[in-house]
Amino acid sequence: MASESRHQLHVFFFPFMAHGHLIPTMDMAKLFAARGVKATLVTTPRNVPSFSKTRGINIDIQTIKFPAVEAGLPEGCENIDSIENSIEMFDNFLKATKMLQQPLEQLLQDFQPSCLVADVFFPWATDIAAKFGEIKLTRMQLPNFIKHEVETDLSKFLKEAVESVLKSYGVVVNSFYELEPAYAEHYKKVIGRKTWHIGPVSLCNKNDEDRARRGKEPSIDEHECLRWLGTKKPNSVVYICFGSIANFSDSQLMEIAMGLEASEQQFIWVVKKGKNEKEEEDWLPKGFEKRMEGKGLILRGWAPQVLLLDHEAVGGFVTHCGWNSTLEGVTAGVPMVTWPLSAEQFYNEKLVTQVLKVGVDVGVRRWIRVKGDSIKRDAIEKAVKRIMVGEETDGMRSRAKVLGEMAKRAVEEGGSSYSDLNALIEELKLHCL
Ligand code: UDP
Repeated sequence: MASESRHQLHVFFFPFMAHGHLIPTMDMAKLFAARGVKATLVTTPRNVPSFSKTRGINIDIQTIKFPAVEAGLPEGCENIDSIENSIEMFDNFLKATKMLQQPLEQLLQDFQPSCLVADVFFPWATDIAAKFGEIKLTRMQLPNFIKHEVETDLSKFLKEAVESVLKSYGVVVNSFYELEPAYAEHYKKVIGRKTWHIGPVSLCNKNDEDRARRGKEPSIDEHECLRWLGTKKPNSVVYICFGSIANFSDSQLMEIAMGLEASEQQFIWVVKKGKNEKEEEDWLPKGFEKRMEGKGLILRGWAPQVLLLDHEAVGGFVTHCGWNSTLEGVTAGVPMVTWPLSAEQFYNEKLVTQVLKVGVDVGVRRWIRVKGDSIKRDAIEKAVKRIMVGEETDGMRSRAKVLGEMAKRAVEEGGSSYSDLNALIEELKLHCL
């Protein structure tokens, strides 16, 4: 299950209502709490007195109503010790415990603990917990070569690419261990590959000049862009860019423009389209650029992305979730609106929205490929507001900031990526020199 904070584990304990279960579960919760884990016991009101307090150990107790009468038991019968050895009453007792599913689910929803330690006498609890931990991808969001549908030259090529990883000596990863420790461990221990996490590699660019000129010459003078951003308050501009390949239809661009205007947020929007001769462009609402003067900047062509993302005025990123852009957004410490189009971008979306919880999805349900116009202005407006000024913004922003700092620490001397790169170089020397 997802943790409410990435820095403190929070474990929910849910013991069966019998002293032989309540007592050891309480002790177990104390053991966890004594090691700095946040522990919460879930029980019914009449079982609360069974839990003894230990000085200096803080355990939270959450109660849920026991539906005794609804299950044919006397009022107040909430513990096995009050069912008087009657088989019928025991059956009713179990019936009552099954009715706890909904309130337990509600508690998990409200508190979002890291995991649930449920009594084996609540066999249904595992399925309930799984609802919160599952990251689901629909078939429509998966690449064809994974769906094993008709084999094409491209799907064959991609399969070979994945298989080649398994045959290689090891894998060099543009990521950092702290960003996705569970996946890094899985790769090493379950898939069994040697890996070196040496990223974010974009952090090797130390000055503005280097950060502005990655890949292509920017289509705008970076100083002009920085001057414009310099007039804005911190975290007041949203940056919108869909990577180096994606190209949207005119109707989708029109929806983006309308959504941005309705969001009332300042923006830099990168559009991979040159300006034509006409005064007004068909894909822009009438008078859009005039209305947006000073508020929004349309950047036609290639943006100095890393430089812009790192500016303190930029406080949000609408991204297609290409891995580089995702990691650059993480490194800049900004909340993201995820708008995946194809490839592995739907996986990256889940990482951002459900694992790291530093973004919200705009609502793409299937591969869009290069062109697409499936996302309406309302969804864009809503998502942009959620990362810039919504109720959840502060939480997302502070989690994003922490990740951004972790990213920078990872590549500094002694950091995890710095050490992995050293280890890789040493290992190569051993084999090659
Ligand atoms: N990029 C950029 N300016 C642009 C568009 C993209 O600097 O206008 C950079 C971006 O910073 C990232 C890379 O191009 O490093 C795009 O890679 P990503 O994996 O995000 O997406 P792809 O282009 O492969 O879909």
